[in-house]
Amino acid sequence: MAQQYPEWIWQNGSIKPWAEATTHVMSHALHYGSSVFEGIRSYVTPDGAAIFRLTDHLNRLYMSAKIYDMALPYTVDELAAACREVIRRNGLGASYLRPVAWRGLGGFGLSAETPIDMAVAAWPMGPYLGAEALQNGIDACVSSWQRFAPNTIPAGAKAGGNYLSGQLIAREARRLGFGEGIALASTGLLSEGAGENLFLVFDGVLHTPPASASLLTGITRNTLMTLAREDGIEVVERDIPREYLYLAEEVLMCGTAAEITPIRSIDGKQVGTGKAGRVTLRLQELFFGLFDGRTHDKWGWLEQV
Ligand code: PMP
Repeated sequence: MAQQYPEWIWQNGSIKPWAEATTHVMSHALHYGSSVFEGIRSYVTPDGAAIFRLTDHLNRLYMSAKIYDMALPYTVDELAAACREVIRRNGLGASYLRPVAWRGLGGFGLSAETPIDMAVAAWPMGPYLGAEALQNGIDACVSSWQRFAPNTIPAGAKAGGNYLSGQLIAREARRLGFGEGIALASTGLLSEGAGENLFLVFDGVLHTPPASASLLTGITRNTLMTLAREDGIEVVERDIPREYLYLAEEVLMCGTAAEITPIRSIDGKQVGTGKAGRVTLRLQELFFGLFDGRTHDKWGWLEQV
């Protein structure tokens, strides 16, 4: 069956039919990975559709662009308006939004000052790893692929080229029958999942690797750290050796797409009881509570469409 796409995409300042939102085959980004992007979710809340931490995501897009000297031709406000328009025009409720900026047609050299093209697409999205995964957790493995070292490619930028690493990790994991792959940093210490950050629980305290562990400091990671601390759960950022994965009471993955996904086994070893643990369940309650009104959004994270 043919894939069903939403009708409209915003590209370079105007709304276009999905099929017409195209780029040239000689666009710089297609050859060299020179794009930066975001992944953002909208949820249906009691006050209507809302985009979760839209401004924080767009600010991160600008930071990613700054690292690669890409002067984005639109302001955060203009992009926020584009995100809202794409959701409205496509009649979307719970969806995934993909703003992307790329080096377009206008030079083939690695340091070419090409035009910067931008687009915002959105499509309906439920749980990324499946509804069952949110409840029962996934089986993960430690990847044979390491993340890139901090002095090679900056993991703190959400750039297209970084996702070659993510593809190797995710594809290897799926090929071996696992739900997701976990990568070590070039130091040999724990980094992150193919597209998710990690939290481990020891004695009821949340432990997560620091920014220096070749990872993207996720907005969901920040959300969970904030919600946890607010709820009296201690959170520490620290270097974590691989074997701690097997010893933790609970391990979870988080990200915009993955939301909060428990990990029930790693490399075939059961994590804790093999079920979502107390801290994971509490974080899920607090996180999903933001969208149905059970958790008061005192931070202004829900930005109405
Ligand atoms: N790490 C990587 C490599 C990712 O791609 C993502 C998803 N954007 C995350 C972590 C989680 O980030 P966020 O919570 O901002 O979606």
